[in-house]
Amino acid sequence: FDRTLSLIRYPARHQHKSLQAWDSADELLITEIQQDATQPEGQCIIFNDDFGALGCWFADERPFWVSDSWIAQRSLLENLEANTAQYNQPPAVHYLTSMDPLPQAPAMVLIKIPRTLALLEHQLIALRQVVTANTRIIAAGKVKSITRSVLALFERYIGPTQTSLAVKKSRLIFTTVNSELCARPVTSPYPTTWSYTHQDGTHLSLTNHANVFSRQSLDIGARLMLGHMQADNSDRLIDLGCGNGILGLSALAQAPQCQVTFVDESFMALASARENVQTNFPERLPQCEFVASNCLETLLSDKRSGEFTKVLCNPPFHQQNTITDHIAWQMFHDAREALGKGGHLIVVANRHLDYHHKLKRLFGGVKLLASDKKFVILSAAKR
Ligand code: SAM
Repeated sequence: FDRTLSLIRYPARHQHKSLQAWDSADELLITEIQQDATQPEGQCIIFNDDFGALGCWFADERPFWVSDSWIAQRSLLENLEANTAQYNQPPAVHYLTSMDPLPQAPAMVLIKIPRTLALLEHQLIALRQVVTANTRIIAAGKVKSITRSVLALFERYIGPTQTSLAVKKSRLIFTTVNSELCARPVTSPYPTTWSYTHQDGTHLSLTNHANVFSRQSLDIGARLMLGHMQADNSDRLIDLGCGNGILGLSALAQAPQCQVTFVDESFMALASARENVQTNFPERLPQCEFVASNCLETLLSDKRSGEFTKVLCNPPFHQQNTITDHIAWQMFHDAREALGKGGHLIVVANRHLDYHHKLKRLFGGVKLLASDKKFVILSAAKR
């Protein structure tokens, strides 16, 4: 069938116009499925659809749509809404986070290769428990993302795997389910756990689900930040882009009565942060909240501007596969709005990014709290 979709990357107003909401791997996957007359009847699962292009295209199939990204979910929601005229009946996509169980015996599984190999491994381990010999599995990605390690994961967990020729720098992966292999129990390497002992002797145990930043050890930027941040019992603090929650946890260790709002766009990050508060400070869980959001927009749209005293932030510089500083920018703007007068945004950043001037422009003044060869810790006060 023919379908003309108009698609955005959420949030549309912060994206560069040249960035498309789909790629040649999506096109290849769609073409492959359209051309095949022998499509299996039954449930379809779509994994890691960056901005909802596949979810929109296949919405009539009422697919289960699995993503670790709140932003990807919002993209799909908005894209479906913007394209309702394309559907005979209202599209009904079943949204699943990467932490939810998968439906049994899917007929068709479409996978976009994610940036993190560990996330793919986690998904294939979950998938092998629900597929049948009749499940058709097709994955797609940019040629450079379809590495030997990626193909080895499909072979190891699902069965014999082949790839298509490259078209417009993308390829498909076809995997046949080996039922005997899939019936064997495997132990997932995820989540991973490591511990951190602060210079004051505080010991933290950190659990990390597969898609969490710095899953194997403490990030070196975060390490510098931990030596220089301070929390008080009266603080209402945000750990912005919390990952496993290391910054907010350190605040809870320093100031047992402070309140911490952990914010991330990754569901696995939020699940990890919650588990880490539960493990390290179970009695402080009621002082904490865990919010899925693009930067702070969920809190700000709940009219919580001016409510917070500190924002701690180790900002990202990727969105899906694109390197960008627009997220850090939105984080700084949002932080300013979320802070009350006299509140502080404390940022760890790579020196070469020169956030110093940007923060100065936004806040009017910036203090350098610490630096080493690679990183700076900056503090900006809301006047
Ligand atoms: N705070 C952790 C640390 O210091 O180890 C993680 C920092 S990591 C550099 C950045 C985090 O920001 C990641 O956990 C990522 O999922 C999250 N993130 C990326 N884009 C985001 C967005 N638009 N809104 C909220 N969080 C985002």
